[in-house]
Amino acid sequence: MPIYEYVCSSCDTKFEMIRSMSKANEGAECPHCKHEAERALSTFACFSSDESGMTTAVAGGGHSCASCASGNCATCAS
Ligand SMILES: [Zn+2]
Repeated sequence: MPIYEYVCSSCDTKFEMIRSMSKANEGAECPHCKHEAERALSTFACFSSDESGMTTAVAGGGHSCASCASGNCATCAS
């Protein structure tokens, strides 16, 4: 399942949750203050590697795993 990053609007804690895509846009509870956290949209949740072996962070986008722009990260495979 994809990993989504959330940011707490109360204490700015960032945390990740693995959850199904159908629940991706639901709120999550901050592990620090229990305030409701919102999904962070501009994160670097996964990485892609090019042919030279460089690992490059890719920005989030509406591609196959909903958390990377490459369509070829670890979470895309599922
Ligand atoms: Zn919090």
